[in-house]
Amino acid sequence: MNEILLQGGRILDPGARRDAPGDLLIRDGRISGGKPSTGAVVVKLDGLVVTPGLIDPHVHLREPGQSAKETIGTGTAAAAAGGFTSVIAMPNTAPVADGPNTIAWMRQRARETGLVNVFPTGAISLGQKGEALAPIGALRQAGVVAITDDGHCIQSAELMRRALEYARMFDLPVLDHCEDRSLSAGGVMNEGRWSRILGLPGWPGIAEEVMVARNALLAELTGARVVCQHLSSAGSVRILREARARGVRLDGEASPHHLCLTEELVEGYDTNFKMNPPLRTAEDVKAVREAVADGTIRFLATDHAPHCSYEKEVEFDEAPFGVVGLETALGVYLTELVHGQGMSLGEVVARMTHLPSDYFGLGRGTLGEGAVADLTVMDPGRKWTVKKEDFRSKGRNTPFEGRELKGRAVFTMVGGEIRHDLDGRAPKK
Ligand SMILES: [Zn+2]
Repeated sequence: MNEILLQGGRILDPGARRDAPGDLLIRDGRISGGKPSTGAVVVKLDGLVVTPGLIDPHVHLREPGQSAKETIGTGTAAAAAGGFTSVIAMPNTAPVADGPNTIAWMRQRARETGLVNVFPTGAISLGQKGEALAPIGALRQAGVVAITDDGHCIQSAELMRRALEYARMFDLPVLDHCEDRSLSAGGVMNEGRWSRILGLPGWPGIAEEVMVARNALLAELTGARVVCQHLSSAGSVRILREARARGVRLDGEASPHHLCLTEELVEGYDTNFKMNPPLRTAEDVKAVREAVADGTIRFLATDHAPHCSYEKEVEFDEAPFGVVGLETALGVYLTELVHGQGMSLGEVVARMTHLPSDYFGLGRGTLGEGAVADLTVMDPGRKWTVKKEDFRSKGRNTPFEGRELKGRAVFTMVGGEIRHDLDGRAPKK
């Protein structure tokens, strides 16, 4: 018998409406309601907050095929360091995860090298080309938790409609990176005053909004569940709010950078501020924050997108889109939403635990007796400064370098195994 006693924490399990000081016993990888035996390993928490393990619904692990950027091993190490115990992996790997063989390979690789749970998604279209549907039923059988062409929004409304009809049959969520490419073509930053000042091609908010509106209509028509990923514009928020008020099964996702960073950061042509969709205006940031606070946008993701330094260290136009996020997201969300905006810690934790678990059917997100012991210990008041050199991720492309954040994960456990222990709280074996 293998027992670990987390002693003297504040146990915060929003799904069970539990928020009280207490001890938590982990026995053979599961939460136990019993009494610890004399041989239990004791980890003292001194009032730190214990929550169900955080779940990130949007990461790019880059394996197979792009392991110079990241691997399942390094990406999941970054996840554990950031307090995440489960990640939902996007299918834009090489090859694209558009069939059951690639999904099976990824799941096997995750079992061998992953430090946290990896839940794969499958592509909507073959090769993410937006032409022919991937075998959605076979992907479902292979264990995907959603389908998405993230990075390559399906441009054809007819193909998207058929994807939603199939997904509806399996009640499989569809995640969409909303970008009408006839409107965003060539754009590398938000279209507006700053793109004109800097002489860079613009990617306007309307390119996102058109697709959010399309998705609202198609979700309503088909009854499928759709998540509009990493929303960046005030217009998108308005369309989402209206659709949800009508009962459409449309959801929105926020990313840390769109909650607190704005377009003028591109002024120095630093490619760590180049992401897709781009950083927008202060009004857009305000709208996204309000939507998160009032529940219009329910999901909090990272959109962790590692790239090699040599790929990012080029001219702004030429650099790939994307920034890393796994090791900074919790700090940003606590800083911005809890300390900055007055959202309760319980609400933010709920959005990062039982909400995604329930929505994607992951069977996680709880500290109830008998549950798999995936948990995160966080210190919501701890101030720290982001240093990319300390990242476990191979990616160094963060827009938060040098920023002081308030709140950090200090201890992460996956299936009863300690995966991150920032302060060395567990006794050495
Ligand atoms: Zn995307």
